[in-house]
Amino acid sequence: MHQRQIIFQSILPNQLDPARFSKPIIDGIEQPLTITSMNGECTVQLPLSSKINRPIKDDFDDDELVAYAENLENIPEKILLKEDRKKKDIENNPLYKYRHGILSVSDISSQIWCEQQLTYKFLYPFILNDDGEIKRVDDKIHMLRGTSLHLDRELEIQIKVSIECQTREDSYGIRLLNMIQAIHGLLTWNKLDQPYITREMPIFGNMYEGKLYFRGIIDEINYDPRTNQLEVVEFKTRASKTTPKPQQTYTHKIQVNIYRTLLDELIQGQVDKTLYFQRFNLEPTTILSDSILNQYNQCGFTQINTLENAFDLLIKLAFQMPTITTNGAIEYILQSDPTWKNRKEFDRDENNLKELLIKSEGYWLGKREAEGVDIEDAYKCQWCDYKEMCTWREEKSNEFSRKKRRIN
Ligand code: SF4
Repeated sequence: MHQRQIIFQSILPNQLDPARFSKPIIDGIEQPLTITSMNGECTVQLPLSSKINRPIKDDFDDDELVAYAENLENIPEKILLKEDRKKKDIENNPLYKYRHGILSVSDISSQIWCEQQLTYKFLYPFILNDDGEIKRVDDKIHMLRGTSLHLDRELEIQIKVSIECQTREDSYGIRLLNMIQAIHGLLTWNKLDQPYITREMPIFGNMYEGKLYFRGIIDEINYDPRTNQLEVVEFKTRASKTTPKPQQTYTHKIQVNIYRTLLDELIQGQVDKTLYFQRFNLEPTTILSDSILNQYNQCGFTQINTLENAFDLLIKLAFQMPTITTNGAIEYILQSDPTWKNRKEFDRDENNLKELLIKSEGYWLGKREAEGVDIEDAYKCQWCDYKEMCTWREEKSNEFSRKKRRIN
């Protein structure tokens, strides 16, 4: 058993905790209430009195249209440009509207499962459950159990230490410190007959210089000093011992492939510093708070004053890592008996990942509408919280009936 590693978690002042807003759906109908969740406390707000919209005129006569066209010609360029900017602001795409320009790796897994469902989750994250309670759609018992098993596994080799942060830069300073520590531990590992293991390491980047920027947490990284190989392991919990469906395994493999590509790009120094600070909206030269600087000092990293210093140190250390091709594995664990494990190792399929990213990009950048599941994947709809309101499902079912009628 290794000596336990320390993993830091940031405690933010209340004002840095983002409130979450949503309208619940009851029986497939969006409710006028707004639910706000702040620091785990849910409050329900009543609707504001509705504004009466003036009817829009749509029956112009010819003279009015000519006058309108003439006016249009005379509009100064400055006003037209302003209008154009306004239009662009309004045309906000899912990437910025729901994710502020950064995707989590699990967003891609959800997208592969059903893009339409993912869109509904953004629009209606609260639903009425069978017990008549308004709940977050992802707060299901098996999901909460999965989170708790993840934590148990993390605590097998790590101790969590909370650090008070004053700014967003502080909290990102903690994330970078966790990465720096994990990599430094690997570089200084001197037990040549034992693998080095670290868990819950943050990662980020835009793979293959793509337009999508990712952040995520790698469940486990193993380094084998005998073979000089790194391995990324994704940890998944199962409610039963049955083999996961190929579609489930596929989404898990994609997740692992994304993590190992992000890790390889970090090791190869293929990370754009300016882009990192831009995407996370961080000020690189702000001096970090004393609580953060003390922690860096205590860990032996004494030259750090700003987030930029921390970032540079991370890149320097990652560059010294002994390998640039990372293997991948998924470890399935039974929820009722965590000693039952099923491990799958697999090869990397870079072309498949690149193609998938190109397809995903279209949705996130607002170039195409969300797509639901294909007819052969219709089994997914059985468990979907949005099946009663899903327009995609309705269209597919009508299409199917039309085809059937034509055949008969
Ligand atoms: S009902 Fe089916 S197609 Fe519609 S969102 Fe749910 S899983 Fe996707």
